[in-house]
Amino acid sequence: MELNLNVWKRGNQRAVHKPLLLLYALSQYQKGHDRFFSYKEIDEPLKDLLIEFGPYRKSHHPEYPFWRLQNDGIWELKNHEHAQPRSSNTDAKKSELLKYDVAGGLTQIEFDAIVSNQDKMARAIGELLEQFFPETIHDDIVDALDIQEYLNKPHKRDPNFRQKVLTAYGYKCAICGFDCRLGHASIGLEAAHIKWHQSKGPSTVDNGIAMCALHHKAFDRGVFTITYDLKLSVS
Ligand SMILES: [Zn+2]
Repeated sequence: MELNLNVWKRGNQRAVHKPLLLLYALSQYQKGHDRFFSYKEIDEPLKDLLIEFGPYRKSHHPEYPFWRLQNDGIWELKNHEHAQPRSSNTDAKKSELLKYDVAGGLTQIEFDAIVSNQDKMARAIGELLEQFFPETIHDDIVDALDIQEYLNKPHKRDPNFRQKVLTAYGYKCAICGFDCRLGHASIGLEAAHIKWHQSKGPSTVDNGIAMCALHHKAFDRGVFTITYDLKLSVS
């Protein structure tokens, strides 16, 4: 059985809360964790992941994916029967999750299918990374979680995308103007997708922007975004 990862794709939104929860759980399973995690133990590390790899927010809510992932049929909770919902919603408040020591984990079926098989688990981790996170931050996530992953490299892409975008931008970083060449080869310049490749942004020149490696990474980490009229918006 495969994790059904497509359920959380909504337009261009970076819906990374559930993928980060799953990546965290899988990373712990790789280290021998049993099926259930108490909310108390997951709150802090998941919050750190949301801050580091999620979209910019004033406050972070690791309790949302912890509760809502059960709707996707691959995650189940226990001790949650008495947890009171937030007034505005059907999911429980963080204080209730802590009060009743609510625990969550992959369903027995998913756990048996994935966790018993190291190779399958590494593939599931690779798939989560590929579907929900830009390539430039895969290594950062792998380092942060200390996980073994299997990534399907190289990606299928328009092989001319980089060349076309760099040409359109005159071989300069659109942010800082960096241009470094060695002979005819351009060094440290990359073609970034304005709308993420992972959220089905096309590999076409009008969806591309030339950036130096540093700005490309900052962009993919959500430090700034590009609006449709090509203005910078810094978070
Ligand atoms: Zn730059």
